[in-house]
Amino acid sequence: MNETERGALAIDLTDGFVEAREGAVRVIRCGICGQNVPRSVVPHMKSDHPTDWTRWVDRFIELRAAGYPYKKIMWEFRWLFSWSVIRREIFPNDPLLFGQVKVTES
Ligand SMILES: [Zn+2]
Repeated sequence: MNETERGALAIDLTDGFVEAREGAVRVIRCGICGQNVPRSVVPHMKSDHPTDWTRWVDRFIELRAAGYPYKKIMWEFRWLFSWSVIRREIFPNDPLLFGQVKVTES
């Protein structure tokens, strides 16, 4: 795996998720069940794939502990959700918020 390739840090989790359009609506095809999910895939992940969602959140925390900004993590998850989702989901367990690690500039 090439670490500098965009999306490489979460490809094992996001493989199969594809952004598409249905008319004017942005949809994400779920890489786990194949369903087309309108707008945000996050509520779908929480309700239909809670175990996989937990793995995503664990990855957010791992990447934060490695010093990555929210937006870098959003890129690595290929914009499947907004960066503010990451902040919301890992607060107050965010390693970067407590000065334990330094931000890695991307
Ligand atoms: Zn699904």
